[in-house]
Amino acid sequence: MKKKKKNGNEDAGIVNLKVLGGSQAPFPLPRVFISQEAIQRIKCFVDLCEYEINGFGFVERNGNDFVITDVFLIKQYTCTSGVHVETDSRALNKFVRELVQNNGDASKMRLQWHSHAWSSVFFSDEDVETIGNYMNDFMISLVMNKYGEYRCRLDLFKPFNLSLEVPLLVYINPLPDAFVRCCEEEMKQNVRVKTPILGKLFTRVPKISDDTLCGIPVDLADVKASGPEEIELLSQPNQSCADGTAVEIKPARREGGDNGL
Ligand SMILES: [Zn+2]
Repeated sequence: MKKKKKNGNEDAGIVNLKVLGGSQAPFPLPRVFISQEAIQRIKCFVDLCEYEINGFGFVERNGNDFVITDVFLIKQYTCTSGVHVETDSRALNKFVRELVQNNGDASKMRLQWHSHAWSSVFFSDEDVETIGNYMNDFMISLVMNKYGEYRCRLDLFKPFNLSLEVPLLVYINPLPDAFVRCCEEEMKQNVRVKTPILGKLFTRVPKISDDTLCGIPVDLADVKASGPEEIELLSQPNQSCADGTAVEIKPARREGGDNGL
């Protein structure tokens, strides 16, 4: 019998693993978010210190989404030569003890971050050894330098060990109402949407989008249209969108809540 030829990987007993995403996966791929304030604090600490510096952070987990909510420093000893920093273990124990005494949740300390100052960002053998010694369900590790470069990894230890290099997504807090109103006013002043209706060309103030801003998840609860849109006649019939000046004849208000045209 003629034997089917195997490729090299099959001969070696190696299966090419493939990450399944989108509709192929019943569970979404893990994502790591960080609050705007937390990433700004890390960046500030990294900028302020000429040498390697490290810290910890709290992480909230929601399914496969991990959100770094806050970061902080513990007493530590850094070094003028090389990239090495040592956390004071007594200070760390004291911090955890006081956290628990104040009804804090020490199990949420799942971020360890450090700086490589002016060096490139990578996880050194020492970093990887540290990560391997964690006793948690998961741990997020972040290394950043003064150029703003970073590498972030998520290590899962239960139900099995898995290490993933992940992008860090900044979570923008809900926008203050006054801030949104200010942007909305500037947009209304400067932006018009050209729309042909029954052979005439109208402009209107754009709808406030329900979608995400800049691809970053934001709470848009406060970002809603405050009223009906103004619709203005832009041009004479059959004038194309690319033509000439907008001729504003009269503003008109639409009734009802549906602003779609
Ligand atoms: Zn390192």
